[in-house]
Parts: sequence; C-alpha cells; structure tokens
Amino acid sequence: MILKCNYASSLRRFVLSCMLVALPAFAADPDYGSVAPSAVTAATVCSEPNRGVVEYQELIRRTRELEPELVEALRQFPKGADLHNHLSGAVMPEDYIAMGVADGDCYVADRSDPSMYTIVAAGADGACGGSSRPLAAAGQAERLKLVNSLSMHRYGYPDIRHGHDQFFATFGRFGAISGMPWNTAPMLAALLRQAERDSVSYVETMNSFQSQAVSTLAGLLRQRFPDNSFYGNSANYPAMYGFLLGVGLNDAVAGARKEISQHVNRANAILGCGTAAKEPACGVSYAFLAPVNRNAAMPDGSPDLARIFAQIAFSMMLSTADSRVVGVNLLSGEDAVVSMGSFATQMQFFTYFRKLFPAARIALHAGEFTPCFVGKGNPALKDHLAGSLKAGAERIGHGVSFAYLSEADRAEVAGLIKNNNALVEIMFTSNAQILGVAGQDHPFMRYREHCIPLAFSSDDGGVSHADFTSEWIYGVKQYGLSAADLIRLGRESFQHSFIPGAPLWDDLAAGKTVSQCGTVKPGMSNPPDPCKSFLGKSAKARAQWGYEARLTDFLQTGAKALGLSRH
Ligand SMILES: [Zn+2]
Repeated sequence: MILKCNYASSLRRFVLSCMLVALPAFAADPDYGSVAPSAVTAATVCSEPNRGVVEYQELIRRTRELEPELVEALRQFPKGADLHNHLSGAVMPEDYIAMGVADGDCYVADRSDPSMYTIVAAGADGACGGSSRPLAAAGQAERLKLVNSLSMHRYGYPDIRHGHDQFFATFGRFGAISGMPWNTAPMLAALLRQAERDSVSYVETMNSFQSQAVSTLAGLLRQRFPDNSFYGNSANYPAMYGFLLGVGLNDAVAGARKEISQHVNRANAILGCGTAAKEPACGVSYAFLAPVNRNAAMPDGSPDLARIFAQIAFSMMLSTADSRVVGVNLLSGEDAVVSMGSFATQMQFFTYFRKLFPAARIALHAGEFTPCFVGKGNPALKDHLAGSLKAGAERIGHGVSFAYLSEADRAEVAGLIKNNNALVEIMFTSNAQILGVAGQDHPFMRYREHCIPLAFSSDDGGVSHADFTSEWIYGVKQYGLSAADLIRLGRESFQHSFIPGAPLWDDLAAGKTVSQCGTVKPGMSNPPDPCKSFLGKSAKARAQWGYEARLTDFLQTGAKALGLSRH
C-alpha cells in the first residue's frame, strides 16, 4: 500500500542501513486574539470525552521516559521546514510571562472562565487597575496558573469541546503581550530558538502586519458597500478592490514592508546575528505567511465580509510585493459560525484575487473539524477541503475531515490535491488537543494510502506547550514510521515550501532530482555544472541542497555520536 508511493525507494543504501539499524524503534496569531470568544466557539456542542488526547499524551510521556535515546535522536533529526505555525501561538507561555513582566503588565481572573488568568496592560500611570495584580509580583503558584491559562499545560479536558475552547481562548489571554508591536521581534527570536532546538532549517510563520490600517480600510469598504449580499457576487469585486486601492491599500502594503524590516532587524539584533556572538538560532531561515481571519465578525455576530475581503486583498498584494512574505493563509476556528456560514464567499474572494495576483501562494487551513463539531454528514467535511483546493490552495492545513469522508469522496479530494500538486500539513498535537483526534482516527495513514505528499508542522507549539519533536515521536511510535519515512517527510516539507524557484526533486517519490543534478549526490559541496548553475538560479533548490547536506551530516556524524551508526 505504501510501497506504491515509493516511500522508501528513493533512499541510498547507506541511508537505509545506517538509519534503519540505528533506530530500530522506528517501525491561531493576533487575529485569534482579536476574535470575540463567541466567534471562535464551536458551532455545535461536542461533549464527547477526549480519549484521543489522553492516548496521545500518554504515548509521548512514556516514550520520553523510557526511550530517551530515541527522543534525542529524533530531536537531532533534521526536520526540514516547519510550514505551518502561528507566531503568536508558537511562543511558550513562560516566554510570554517574561515579556509581560518587562512590559509592566498585570494579570486578572478571566471574565469568561474565572478559573483562568488573563493578561491585561497596566493603566497609563503604570499601576494595575481594579482587581488585577502586577505580573512581576506573581508567586510560584500564580505563575503555574498563568502558564496553565496561556496554554494547554496541565489542562484537564472535561470533554472535547472544552479543550477546543481553551485552546482558542489562550490567544485572547496573552493578546495584551502578543499584540504589542514591540514584542513581535522577541516572539520571532523565541520561535527561531525553538526551531533550532528542534533541528528545523526553515520556518514559514503566520503573522499579521498593519492590522490597524487594514481594519480602517475594511471599515471604509463596509461604509461604501454596507449590504452583505453585495459580497456574494463576484461581479462586484473589481469595484470593491478599486475602492480599496483608492483609499490607501498600497500605503498599507508599504507600511507592512517597513514594519517587517523593523521586526527582522530587531530579531537579528536580539539573536546577535551577524556578530561573533550570534546564537545558533541565526542559522534558521524563515519567511512569513500573511493571515486572514476567517471569523471576522460584526458586533451582531454576522460575518464582516468587508474585513475578510480587505484582509485577502492586502495579504495577496503584500505577498506579491515583498519576498519575505511568501504566501497567504486563513486562520481562526474553522468550525465557528462565521467561518462555516461564509466559506463559499471567502473562497470566491480567493478565486478572484488569485487571478489578480498569480504569484501569491496560498495555503489554507481546511478540514480542521470533525462530525463531533459540525454534525455527522455535514457537506462541509468534504466541501472545505475541495473548495479550498479549487480556490487555489497549494497546501492544506490539517485536513482532518478527510478521515470522515466516504471512499469516493476521499478519492475525489485526493485527486484535487494531486491536481494542485499540493501537500497536507499534519499536526498531531493540536489535532489531539483541539479536536480529540489521534491514533487510528487521524487521517495521516489514509493520506499515505492515497500517496498524498505530507509534512509535519508544529501549529502552535507555545499554546500546545509541546516541541516540534513531539510530532515526530508520535509519528514513529503511533504509526511505526521508518527512518526512510521521516526523511521523505523532511524532503516533502522543502519541496512544498513557498521558497521561490524550481524544486530540486523532479520526482521525489522516485528519488529523482532534476536532470541538471541527476549525476551528483544531493548535498555535496561544490557540485559541478550544470547542477551548480541550476542551484544558483533557485533559492528553493539551494535550500533543499542545504537540507540534503544536513541530512548526510546527521547520518554520518550525529547518528554516530548517539551510538546510532551503522553496525
Ligand atoms: Zn494553524
């Protein structure tokens, strides 16, 4: 079943002999925070017990306790690209608390869940107002409760839905920290440090820019076109887009480019990049994805389609204008009322803008729900996957609903994925925590049956309170992935990254590189022409070459250092 995809056949003998012997055990963002809690609450109550997360956590815990060498080998394993993560969700709560202390923030009982704390800014006089207390003065017990409030750490999971709601609620609780523009650079530095610890080479992270300016544009668009039914007709989109251009869309994009430069420069300074004292995290390259909040809502709870349209216009334009923004994504709870009710219109927006900005790359969260949340037999289980692909998605985030489709529908969706040469981003940890999906319920193996390119991603490591290595531990222990499978996952992640340029692999499943490099070992230093000139022209292929070099190095030295060399 798996062999038909040639999952293992691309590997050189030395790779197989080394790794397989070596490792026998292998057999949501400021926008989350800006969404009213009701807007990200599930459309349907899902009150089943979360057995998936219990099994998931137990497997990770047991493996860490009983197989530390395997865990260390997996930590060191070069993982390639982490293609799906939210900058604000990637930061550990402990780091947020340190940033909040530096900002002079306060904490107070969460209004919607008094068993939790939320962070609030101090007043203009620097004092904590009302019943809030200074974060800097929090004792050990309060700090633990803060960590638990800002993440899934020690969460009790009374049922699936509560875990889902806790996950999304955290973004609002640390929003007073993550939403401050001066904290973006420290957040980036934290993300890159974590990526380096997890042996990741490249990260594509979702982060909003110029939120206020885009919000203003959206408000003007709504004033001009107040009727929501207007947004359902694509014949109106040129007029809407023209209006946005007339009121300053280009200025917002220019502002975002300046903002990005500031964040990047400050993050470089924090990490000491370019100096003798640079941190290892400087070796992790990264790019941004511009996100769109799929749950933007009016005060009465109806979809704020003007805001969604404006955010897509801005994100597609920014991605085209700035090479540091390599694509666009949709975020926030997919099962929420606004997202469910306006999905088709949102896809229509993307279809329109894709024609205007053909160079912009699109990755979409899709199928991040189950029948427990949206109801058994809900057409959205298939339609969100199919609709996202038809709207131009080249990567699907999560794709969990694939597991709940009929064989015929799965084949249809798989066909659409292949048509788009798309990849599915797999995130075990957040799927278990948010959806209660794990083990045999997870679509991971089903995607493999259909030979769909897959990559592991971290999603929201800070909120999950888990490292990226956990995804790989789960892949190995739950699904018996071989070393060859892991290498394939790493290679696919780079192959489907949005780094510009032609990819190195002509046929990754067959282990075939492009003809220019067909006779040389991938990753070798100073490859001869025509491979050298091919690499010179493609940033993506160069990144892939670097990944191959890192893999070779790991297999020859890193693995040996761990006592995992060929026997
Ligand atoms: Zn996500």
